[in-house]
Amino acid sequence: MNTPRSTRNSADLLVQVIYERGQATRAELGEHTGLSLNTILRLVSELRGRGLILESRDAPDGNGRGRPSDMLRINPACGYAVGLEFGESRLTLVITDAVGGVLHWTATDAPPFVPSTSTLDHLAALARDFAAAQGIDWHHVRTLSLALHDLVSAEGEWLSWSNLGGEPVPARAHLEAQLAMPVHVEDVSRAFAEAEFRYGAGRGAPDQIALLIGNQGVGSGAFLNGALMKSASGIGGEIGHIVVEPDGGLCQCGNHGCLVNLIVTHAVVARFEDRLAHGLLSAIKSGEDITFARICQAAELGDKAAYTVLQESATYIARALASTLNILGAPLVIIGGQYRQAGSRFLDDLSIQLSQQVIPVLAHQVEVRYAELSEYASAWGGALQALDRAWANDVFSRQAAR
Ligand SMILES: [Zn+2]
Repeated sequence: MNTPRSTRNSADLLVQVIYERGQATRAELGEHTGLSLNTILRLVSELRGRGLILESRDAPDGNGRGRPSDMLRINPACGYAVGLEFGESRLTLVITDAVGGVLHWTATDAPPFVPSTSTLDHLAALARDFAAAQGIDWHHVRTLSLALHDLVSAEGEWLSWSNLGGEPVPARAHLEAQLAMPVHVEDVSRAFAEAEFRYGAGRGAPDQIALLIGNQGVGSGAFLNGALMKSASGIGGEIGHIVVEPDGGLCQCGNHGCLVNLIVTHAVVARFEDRLAHGLLSAIKSGEDITFARICQAAELGDKAAYTVLQESATYIARALASTLNILGAPLVIIGGQYRQAGSRFLDDLSIQLSQQVIPVLAHQVEVRYAELSEYASAWGGALQALDRAWANDVFSRQAAR
């Protein structure tokens, strides 16, 4: 819940306007807040003194006279955010500055993916260790985010696919109590979509859906009219459980032929191995160490058997996505995760099939792109969301006032 503007003091309001806009002049702050120029001059001077904002002349050697046309920005060094992405055998950490710029990141060994408070304690300790290793004082970290490869409720509870119907783990509440700072817990696919929307392949497009396809799961995050879609319960984006093959195998959700079981990378490898066992010719030989990456490489070099299994994935994804695009009206699709290795032909195949299956008015707008950001995208996206919340709740200005 954001602090209502009416109950905020004027200094917090100014800071929030500068954070949301990225930069602003004193005159623009006057227009946006209705405060007099005299009040703004006084508050800006106070905020600069507290180290919360900078003006263009502050760097590198400004004299700080503060004309109304000088540009004001948040001081990136006024605090930090830590973002974690956590899944089966996957832990990525980022540290950002106060406006979301990535300062450091790492991918490291993950603790067992078991929904419990002891796992959360382990993650909190790893986050502290990571900040310390980068020379960042934990007292300057203002917020932490945890992007989970699992179901997450709107209250930040960890609802596990492995324990449906069991007691949810109060991840946000537990970490906030442990760390004494605001914590944001999010579904990894929405965190991933957030980063790609702001800084990756989705920049500038108001309507888009990002798919994160991994070794174990498939999720999605959608933006409509520039806003991330999120239900009141927090559950959503479960595109992996759209049935695309009614005669397919049983899924953990209880349906048969869900998308997830057909396109996750280990399923593609299994399909390919099955073809080899039935005598299909390929440059990859049965008994070799067959990985998804190896299949993508062979497909790129013209291996028909290898490309066929990727093409099947494109067909399954198109079946699930076409209806989704029709419902959302979002023509831009961003593909993230290991499928980024699948090459331009896979992207073209998916794009053509989607164009053929969506309603005509959307068909000519359909565009499929690979995600652009590095492998820390999901950890970063969560940190960006956590920062938005922290600024909206005056966390930075309260800490700076101490
Ligand atoms: Zn399912």
